[in-house]
Amino acid sequence: MLVMKFGGTSVGTGERIAGVAELVESRLPEVPFVVVSAMGGVTDALLALSRAAREGDRAAASAALVTLGEKHHAAVESMGLGSGAAVALRHEIERELARLDGLATGVALLGELSARTTDSICAAGELLSTALMSAALEKRGVAVARVDPRDWMATDATHGAATPDEAAIAANAASRLLPERAAGRVVVTGGFVGAAPDGSTTTLGRGGSDYSAALLGAALQDAGAAVEAIEIWTDVDGILSADPRIVPGARIIPEVGYAEAAELAFFGAKVLHPATIRPAVTRGIAVRVRNTFRPQEPGTTVRAEGPGAGVRAVAMRTGVAALFVGNPRMLLAHGYAARVFSVFERHAVPVDVIATSEVSISITVDAKAPVEALARDLSGFAEVSILRDLAVVSVVGRKLRSTPRVAASIFAALGDINVVLISLGASETNLTFVVQATDAPEAVRRIHRELFEKEAA
Ligand code: ASP
Ligand code: MG
Repeated sequence: MLVMKFGGTSVGTGERIAGVAELVESRLPEVPFVVVSAMGGVTDALLALSRAAREGDRAAASAALVTLGEKHHAAVESMGLGSGAAVALRHEIERELARLDGLATGVALLGELSARTTDSICAAGELLSTALMSAALEKRGVAVARVDPRDWMATDATHGAATPDEAAIAANAASRLLPERAAGRVVVTGGFVGAAPDGSTTTLGRGGSDYSAALLGAALQDAGAAVEAIEIWTDVDGILSADPRIVPGARIIPEVGYAEAAELAFFGAKVLHPATIRPAVTRGIAVRVRNTFRPQEPGTTVRAEGPGAGVRAVAMRTGVAALFVGNPRMLLAHGYAARVFSVFERHAVPVDVIATSEVSISITVDAKAPVEALARDLSGFAEVSILRDLAVVSVVGRKLRSTPRVAASIFAALGDINVVLISLGASETNLTFVVQATDAPEAVRRIHRELFEKEAA
């Protein structure tokens, strides 16, 4: 069994939806469950519609409705459906638009927009893309069960950012989804959307469809099915070994562990949000990132445990400042570090990279943190200096501390680049150091060349 999730760009036009249907058909032997996002840009348009209605801007609200109608009708037009199927879809689009128009009118009259109403409006994107995807598969002769996401995605009533109820979802998977599959139908459903206990429509928050896909895979497994993988079909080839804007030779990481993927996401690799795939990973289900536009690429597979020890990627993050906190008289004094960190705690500033010697502690923070105020408080008992315009560079991998020569080759590769601060060995998933922001891209390139491009040459 397989969960295939298609993001907004993957279902952005009628042609693309037809292409996705072909892709799904080619995987029928693996028993796919299909989860779709709204067509690209539609959720934004629905939110714009909600705001226009709240502001009483009827012209903008109708313009948004017209745009939404055109987008979905154009998709139907280009999908090459038989006339019966096309007419049915066009009716459904018009019904959904009429519902939205009613909601927008109500919002405009009241001048009030609740999170609950916003969810009801936003759900239209996934409901319509699900209808289009179902029609595209049916056109290819595939037996489809189109399932409203509210029939299985049970959540609490926190509209706009609902929390899924995993036990209830598993029960729904058993009673509502697996029987469809047993009857030989491919389940097609929407991501992002759910239902609260009172039946009202909820959403999981922006970008929530990946989460839906992971929860669906987890629920199917909890209901007794064997789920091989969750495939997140998007518009990139996978998670890369470096930011390709910095390192042209960046390559796709074929396999990565969950902890490493989470580390990379922290460094801004926006391909996957680790929290959203957690339900799958904790159950041992692999999550694969695939490119809808280059399906021949194998993508990146994320598992609870990645492959063996070794480096996977090098990443950087700018916008970092460092505080160097020293006090020679505090040599080995107990309670000194606690005192230093209590200042950061008082200002609610998370510390990032830390390095210590006997008499000084170096700490990096986000450059937007109140660095001056921190320094002022610290100067009550220590000497403080501040460095700005820094960047954190991190080599991410598995068992790095125990992998010989990783650190040595990194520092050899850095050559004449000045390292401001080093934090080695705190974690098995990264080796982190701090350089001047202007040096960071070159540092990343040199390390990437040393760790990833040499072995291939
Ligand atoms: N359509 C929703 C959004 O754009 C959910 C998703 O695409 O994951 O946020
Ligand atoms: Mg989207």
